[in-house]
Amino acid sequence: MTAVITTRGLVKRFGRLRAVDGIDLDVRTGDIYGFLGANGSGKTTTVRMLLGLVLPTSGEIELLGGRMPRAGRRVLPRVGALIEGPAHYGHLSGRENLALLDAAGPGGSWRTRRRRIDEVLEQVGLAGVGRRPVKAYSLGMRQRLGLAGALLRRPELLVLDEPTNGLDPQGITEVRELLLDLHRGGTTVFLSSHLLAEVEQLCSRVGVLDRGRLVLQDELATLTAPTGATVVHTPTPDRVRATLDGRVTAVDGQRVVVLGADPAEVNARLVSAGIAVNGLALERPTLEEVVLAATGTSTDRVDARP
Ligand code: ATP
Repeated sequence: MTAVITTRGLVKRFGRLRAVDGIDLDVRTGDIYGFLGANGSGKTTTVRMLLGLVLPTSGEIELLGGRMPRAGRRVLPRVGALIEGPAHYGHLSGRENLALLDAAGPGGSWRTRRRRIDEVLEQVGLAGVGRRPVKAYSLGMRQRLGLAGALLRRPELLVLDEPTNGLDPQGITEVRELLLDLHRGGTTVFLSSHLLAEVEQLCSRVGVLDRGRLVLQDELATLTAPTGATVVHTPTPDRVRATLDGRVTAVDGQRVVVLGADPAEVNARLVSAGIAVNGLALERPTLEEVVLAATGTSTDRVDARP
């Protein structure tokens, strides 16, 4: 896996506030990287530094193999970005807005440009409404138009700041499907979010920012790997405890946690003792539990649900 975004000791100070406090990001080709943090934790500031829109106070940034901000002119054309909600001209159609954006892009004949715009409108599911004025678009459609703009250059990397902010559930699903689609097509995605559930559903790799510090960074599958225990659902937890003497570590209603990562073995012992088993699974921590353990603060710092 090659590095797509690497930062070393990245710091941004605003006066006495260290908004970003020495972070080492590690985003690799093929990741859908979820950059998770509560409001005000420093996500937008980080994204702005990655794209060369704000200068770091100290530290290093490598984007697609180039040192930022110096390599910006070389590497930024290979990056699609969407930060803080896309800005469009409401009286122009989606297609016209894209044509304006495209005018600053890679160029080509009138026919090539038209094809490029058709293609991205199709990709984001706006092919049918590209001619309507943007002021008639829903928030979800505007966000998808913003993504279409980010896709015009066929980027290797998409950098998105809170891409589902302000969208209704349908809009969120649409953006998620689109990002998964792009990822299947080979695009690496870096997105910031304050929504745990969103990151858990979409991302392969997670970084958690807490008051400017990166307190966690790993593959989602590693973070939520089985703990070595099995969860049993049963109407008779006391009988499970008696049968598996010493192996039960927790009981919560009908949910019993048993030491041992072999559900079949646990099931066989319980069934042979005549105990009803309604459900059986390896125990895994949720991302919420992992994040809470890493931040060590109250749940209001990162939203568990949209
Ligand atoms: P949100 O999701 O609310 O945008 P965030 O995680 O993106 O939050 P940032 O916008 O990066 O957080 O802000 C991090 C901290 O830096 C906040 O305390 C914010 O008030 C402060 N900050 C951001 N930009 C500036 C600025 N230009 N001048 C002074 N302080 C700033």
